[in-house]
Amino acid sequence: MKYDLIIIGMGISGISAAIYAKHSGLNVLLIEKNTPGGLLNKINTINNYPGYSKISGPDLSLELFKSINDLNIPYKIAEVESISIKNDNKIISTNIGEFESKYVIVATGRNNKKLGLSNEEKLLGRGISTCALCDGNLYKDKDIALVGGGNSAIEEAIYLSNIANKIYLIHRRSSFTAEKSLVEELLKKKNIEIFYDSNITEIIEDNNQVKEVVINNDKHLVVDALFKYIGFEPNNSIFKNIDISLENGYIVVDNHYETNVKGIYAVGDCIKKNIYQLITAANDGAVASISIIKKMEKNK
Ligand code: NAP
Repeated sequence: MKYDLIIIGMGISGISAAIYAKHSGLNVLLIEKNTPGGLLNKINTINNYPGYSKISGPDLSLELFKSINDLNIPYKIAEVESISIKNDNKIISTNIGEFESKYVIVATGRNNKKLGLSNEEKLLGRGISTCALCDGNLYKDKDIALVGGGNSAIEEAIYLSNIANKIYLIHRRSSFTAEKSLVEELLKKKNIEIFYDSNITEIIEDNNQVKEVVINNDKHLVVDALFKYIGFEPNNSIFKNIDISLENGYIVVDNHYETNVKGIYAVGDCIKKNIYQLITAANDGAVASISIIKKMEKNK
């Protein structure tokens, strides 16, 4: 079966695109490799998305998933391996087979950055976490380390300070880049000790669990967990067979969210842009779909 549009990724941008496409009668398919909602599932509290004065990421994710089901938008849980082009159509190769469409919207988001330490991957889920909301309660009344200095790091340090006994916040600069109001809230917390100008140079393990983090090759902190909030790397690995235009790994798009390859659009956190917010991701998805709908009408 050939689709009008295949959307890769069921985060907020991909779902927004699907809603607009379906309302315009496009034959659309969503493909997601993990959990619908994407990054939303790792956000503790959202208080800057219109319509919700305060909502948790997983709850907003559920609301979005409801829209997909209510509108009967088909979706597949599958891992996209690559995109290729055949006679102006796009072939999406996945671990469950191939799918074909006229247009594609890539909404693959971005992954957590790595510190680059040898046992970092191995200890993920064994003391290393990138999701305070998911794993925070495992460390009730324990001592934990958290690395990063942006909005996520500060927000999650505040959240975890209400659960853990003590938090060592490790940041490589002399000041935080997070919003001022968050930093002010953080500084009021009595159980957060901040290490500025500091890098984690080693993670010491015991029995395959995080035991200590070493900062600046010198100071050993005994902890049960290390939460990493050091930003993201865009997910662009599906472009093995296509020469897509990238900047620092982020997909370059025009005002209509079309890439340099005709018919392939990209939206959300995987594209090069200035502001990475839920609301801008939703906007990207809507604009990309509307652009495709207009193009299809013109080509009729
Ligand atoms: P971010 O803003 O990119 O911050 C990453 C932090 O990690 C920076 O402090 C960075 O330090 C540090 N870092 C990067 N690589 C490192 C490394 N190898 N070792 C140690 N530290 C490292 O990422 P984010 O905080 O996850 O935020 C991502 C986006 O989501 C931002 O646009 C943010 O505003 C948004 N966000 C918004 C909200 C909200 O509005 N409530 C909440 C969360 C996130 P340097 O500065 O030195 O690079």
